[in-house]
Amino acid sequence: MYDDNCIFCKIIKGEIPSNKIYEDDDFCVILDIAPATKGHAVLLPKHHAADVYSLPDEYLEKVLKVARKCADAMVKTLDCDGVNILQNNGEAAGQTVFHYHTHIIPRYKGDGANIGWKPMTPDDNEGLAKKIKENM
Ligand code: AMP
Ligand code: ZN
Repeated sequence: MYDDNCIFCKIIKGEIPSNKIYEDDDFCVILDIAPATKGHAVLLPKHHAADVYSLPDEYLEKVLKVARKCADAMVKTLDCDGVNILQNNGEAAGQTVFHYHTHIIPRYKGDGANIGWKPMTPDDNEGLAKKIKENM
């Protein structure tokens, strides 16, 4: 269930200090130590799974409900103008801690947080859609 070498497992077990904003039987949510904006939090399942591919369904099914609860509290508390709910899988996607987590990032008009992408022109979306569908 836990991995002795994982920083988020250690946080969940209370071996490393954190600032928790929410906890239940399956999750804890802590404030990020290097926030993108004021109030940036990470939601951690109390089960060590590296990423979305390996997180058991029982956790996955509940993640967005907990994330929304946190987002609601952030809107009430922080007077933010929006909230990003996102998560990274794999180094190429920006993942640095390999214990599944969902970022909940309050957004403020003009905050300059670097989240987003430069849109590209799609090459062959029709063919691509067909290929991906085959693996669903
Ligand atoms: P990611 O890059 O998606 O893997 O996100 C990992 C996040 O965990 C980053 O935003 C880090 O700032 C955050 N983080 C790493 N160590 C800690 C810690 N000890 N307490 C709180 N947040 C942490
Ligand atoms: Zn872990």
